[in-house]
Amino acid sequence: FERFKQGLKKSRGALFGRLGHLFSSNRLDDSVYEEMEEAFLAADMGMETSLQVVERVRRLARENKIQQPSELPPLMAQALTEALEKVDPTPSVAADGPTLVLVVGVNGAGKTTSIGKLAHYYKSQGKKVLLAAGDTFRAAATEQLVAWGERVGCDVVRHVAGADPAAVVYDAIQAAKSRKVDFILCDTAGRLQNKDHLMKELAKIYKVASRELPGSPHEVLLVLDGTTGQNAISQAKVFREVVQVSGIVLTKLDGTAKGGVVLPIVQELGIPVKWVGLGESKEDLQPFSARAFAESLCE
Ligand code: GDP
Repeated sequence: FERFKQGLKKSRGALFGRLGHLFSSNRLDDSVYEEMEEAFLAADMGMETSLQVVERVRRLARENKIQQPSELPPLMAQALTEALEKVDPTPSVAADGPTLVLVVGVNGAGKTTSIGKLAHYYKSQGKKVLLAAGDTFRAAATEQLVAWGERVGCDVVRHVAGADPAAVVYDAIQAAKSRKVDFILCDTAGRLQNKDHLMKELAKIYKVASRELPGSPHEVLLVLDGTTGQNAISQAKVFREVVQVSGIVLTKLDGTAKGGVVLPIVQELGIPVKWVGLGESKEDLQPFSARAFAESLCE
């Protein structure tokens, strides 16, 4: 909870900056709900979602016979929690053997950093983690992943620049089996500008993965930069055409007042946000919690 609170400070500040004066007034009328909708929109919650959530708050206020605007924040938190609980944010894991997690997303979204943080998270839970440098297109991406491997203390499977990413995945799976690894976290190239190529590359990775490790990939995480607000939504739509995304990692929420974008991702796209990036250190990736998120934003 504390990390969520800290990480969402800007979003919370923006919301309360707009709504604070309402909460201290003593008239609960339509104008309060209108301003609430504006504030939600400004937080990038999207038109449809903002409307829905405000309507839910209005109904809760009626049911609970609320008279004062100051009593609204817990109801806002409740309405947001309900909206976010429509999808399950629990990370998927293999029933037995290694869990293969493919991480996709455009360059700069925070892919490598999130893989490093995720490795740290699982390691701190006593799991054995292996990183796979599947972005063979950019030499810098591999170097960065190797640096994270050193930082958090786990091995990295890498090939030379330009190598076949599917071959990296093949090697990583063999290594994971023989070393009794719990999680393989696999980086991929983020060249969305070359959609056909990316699709072919991912299809090949899928083929190798499902052959060498039946049931895998167990998770396909799409990394989105939270500071891009509504643009993150359009990006998710494009990626969904290329690959079957099972969850979102929403990064850099600490750097934006637009944290509300979690809502339309969940509501409009129906994809669970499974992890949120709340800072730059290795501890700053948290499993998503609807309640922690909603309460940090509203209370
Ligand atoms: P990639 O190109 O997608 O692999 O992106 P990187 O992992 O290199 O991240 C790009 C930049 O975003 C780096 O400077 C990271 O430190 C920064 N970054 C990633 N996640 C977060 C986050 O949750 N919060 C903040 N403040 N910065 C982040």
